[in-house]
Amino acid sequence: MKGYVDKALCVACGMCVGSCPEGFRLGGDGLAEGYQELPAESVEDAQQAAGDCPVGAITIISQ
Ligand code: SF4
Repeated sequence: MKGYVDKALCVACGMCVGSCPEGFRLGGDGLAEGYQELPAESVEDAQQAAGDCPVGAITIISQ
C-alpha cells in the first residue's frame, strides 16, 4: 500500500508528513507526496493522515 496525494488539492500544511513520515514527504514543489511503499506498521498512521488531511487530498492505494 502507498499514500497518494492529489497535488491539485494539497495546501502544504505538512500534517501528513508529521504524522506519517514513512509515507509522506514534501516534494521539491513544496507539496506533499507519497514516496514509498508503506511499511506495514505505518499503514494505520497513513490512514489516519488521510482522515485528518484538511482538504481530503490523500488516498491510500493498493499496488
Ligand atoms: S495533510 Fe493534506 S494538505 Fe496537508 S500536506 Fe498533507 S496532503 Fe497536503
